[in-house]
Amino acid sequence: MNLAKDYDVIIVGAGPAGCMTAINLHCKFKVLMIDRAVLPRDKGCAGMLKPEAFTLLKKYGLPEEVLSHPRSLTPRGIDLSSGRELVAPFRYYNADRRELDRWLLELARDNPKVEILGKAHLVNLREADGVVEVGIRRNGTETKLTCGFLVGADGASGAVGRAVCSIRPKTATCLSETVETAEEIDLTEFIGFIGRDIPYYHWVVPKADRIQVGAAFPPGETGYPQRYMLFKEVALGKLRLSELSSTPPKGWLITMLHSMSEICPGRGRILLAGEAAGLIDPSILEGITYALKSGELCAGAINADPSNPLPAYSSSLKPIYRKVFKQLLLFKVYRSKLLRLAAQRVIPQVKIARTRD
Ligand SMILES: Cc1cc2nc3c(=O)[nH]c(=O)nc-3n(C[C@H](O)[C@H](O)[C@H](O)COP(=O)(O)OP(=O)(O)OC[C@H]3O[C@@H](n4cnc5c(N)ncnc54)[C@H](O)[C@@H]3O)c2cc1C
Repeated sequence: MNLAKDYDVIIVGAGPAGCMTAINLHCKFKVLMIDRAVLPRDKGCAGMLKPEAFTLLKKYGLPEEVLSHPRSLTPRGIDLSSGRELVAPFRYYNADRRELDRWLLELARDNPKVEILGKAHLVNLREADGVVEVGIRRNGTETKLTCGFLVGADGASGAVGRAVCSIRPKTATCLSETVETAEEIDLTEFIGFIGRDIPYYHWVVPKADRIQVGAAFPPGETGYPQRYMLFKEVALGKLRLSELSSTPPKGWLITMLHSMSEICPGRGRILLAGEAAGLIDPSILEGITYALKSGELCAGAINADPSNPLPAYSSSLKPIYRKVFKQLLLFKVYRSKLLRLAAQRVIPQVKIARTRD
């Protein structure tokens, strides 16, 4: 016996993956999208958009204000231990992450069949009798709802993914903050710092008249608040900038993918999109592109086969899997101590030509 449904689809998480799903679901479906944060939410993300994310967003009419100044940035790597520098031969677009999320949420609101609730926390879920039952806590009250399909787009901390997948990727902790400097900002690069004391990589990125400073610490790293403050001091010194004021650093989780088996598109009536599915570029920790794309594919699969969308969704993700597989290999090479040592011995000063606009 199938239970009555309150919604055809409930989406958990109103980040890029959740919004993209909501935007693309056919208006014949009754949809609820919830997020535990106050919406539009703010994420202390560096906002580096790969060209493919930019092209995808252009299709939806990306407004200018979503891009920060400078509009595009060349990545420069600085090894703080050896002083070596590397300028990468490609560019990122520089998104204002708050504006990007706000705009995506507005597009989701334009779908007349999508109801959106902020400060609504998914607290439990159960698949039974042809529906998914979910418990949602809002303003201290828990409500039980049923839906035909549940989309887990709840990011790295993903309760939905934890409920349905036996293997989950580990998460790293990131600290990030916005800094106002005494000097005018004329940086045109996204600067990634590596070095002996940096376990993964840390970064500085110009955002109009401020800079954003951030650092990722893999699981098991200790003492990172102090290490982050030290890094900030060294990085600002290196860039000849001095701090005028800053927002206190905030902590965020990010997916650290180590194996393809940690990626999971869902189970039964529960589909996962974005970081909740484990989709991230593990070599540089970028997840916006895959969140957008997987949200789009997830909605496409539900639209095409509303009785059983998971097989079509899984197979539509294959091109993303192939890219992640290559990025995982790259990550393993980057992490290989032997190769890093060899590179340091053999290549005295690596400098790849800068690209032009
Ligand atoms: C410091 C930092 C810097 C980054 N820089 C970049 C970058 O430069 N470029 C890039 O491509 N990527 C970057 N990323 C990664 C990128 O931010 C994510 O990969 C991307 O936001 C993933 O989108 P998503 O929709 O899957 O999840 P998220 O954007 O994480 O959204 C998940 C949403 O689910 C909500 N949620 C979670 N649990 C529940 C629950 N139980 N109930 C209700 N709601 C819930 C959360 O509040 C959140 O709003 C960065 C990440 C961090 C932390």
